[in-house]
Amino acid sequence: SCDAVIIDGKQVAADVIESVKSRRAMADIVPGLAVILVGNNAASSVYVRNKSAKAEECGFASQQFDLPVDTSEQEVLELINSLNNDTNIHGILVQLPLPKQIDSHQVIQSIAPEKDVDGFHYLNTGKLTTGDTNDALVPCTPAGSIQLIKSVMGASELSGKHAVVVGRSNIVGKPMASLLLQENCTVTVIHSRTNNPGEICRQADIVVAAVGIPNFIKEDWIKQGAVVIDVGINRITTDEGKTKLVGDVDFENVRSKVSAITPVPGGVGPMTISMLMQNTLDAAIRGKSLITKE
Ligand code: NDP
Repeated sequence: SCDAVIIDGKQVAADVIESVKSRRAMADIVPGLAVILVGNNAASSVYVRNKSAKAEECGFASQQFDLPVDTSEQEVLELINSLNNDTNIHGILVQLPLPKQIDSHQVIQSIAPEKDVDGFHYLNTGKLTTGDTNDALVPCTPAGSIQLIKSVMGASELSGKHAVVVGRSNIVGKPMASLLLQENCTVTVIHSRTNNPGEICRQADIVVAAVGIPNFIKEDWIKQGAVVIDVGINRITTDEGKTKLVGDVDFENVRSKVSAITPVPGGVGPMTISMLMQNTLDAAIRGKSLITKE
């Protein structure tokens, strides 16, 4: 069919931001977001700047910590410890990747779980996998992806569907699989050791691609009428020598088969930052209600 829905991630992301702004105003709080960047990775710098700017736009107080590339693990841990104890800070985010002298694992687990707005702390991943999603901080990219799926499929429609997640990273693939399971989908996860990935993908009612390889998901991997969410962000050089962003899905050839698909850019990308703002607001509101209870 030629009437596939191109899911407008920019619009859905803007709607989330509007809701965050009005909930923040209603709660009458100023959520504090601390963003830590170690080193000067070009892509990371852009992400961090965008996150701080969006936080300000939402009426949050953002603090950005730009640390030199040779910062020791101990120094990062001390900063996090002080932010954990700062009652004006409700969300702490450490931009990954970190320089190699720092164990990112240690750093992430040192963040107070209730301030872990990236949702990578064991307590939050544990809550997600045990289905305690009301109380958990859920990783932003999968949370945004599920919201995009829900923008074209109701809860009852999602139930029982076969969802195939391509990729099993801790940041995207695994939490995505948990969220889809929570929505009563039947979930298959494909990774680099999977036999016959195309055959499995062809059975999917929903495909979420988080691989990091351009055109990995081909037209003949997609069932007629499937919903396709493309998480991939790949920078490629065109024949004309220009760089452009593409996803993991062969968008132009797949789009004619699907019922709905996300573009790259303008799909999942804008959702990630919106969900970060939502997580930060939720953390701040929970923090406030804890204080009121005491
Ligand atoms: P990772 O590199 O951590 O994970 C990639 C996954 O793809 C791995 O599980 C890997 O399998 C799997 N994979 C690699 N090659 C194959 C293959 N040939 N066949 C099947 N599976 C394969 O990436 P991320 O999960 O962090 O990110 C995935 C993509 O999403 C990237 O393009 C990234 O830029 C993008 N991204 C986008 C975000 C957004 O805001 N929209 C946020 C985060 C990521 P194995 O585990 O076996 O190695």
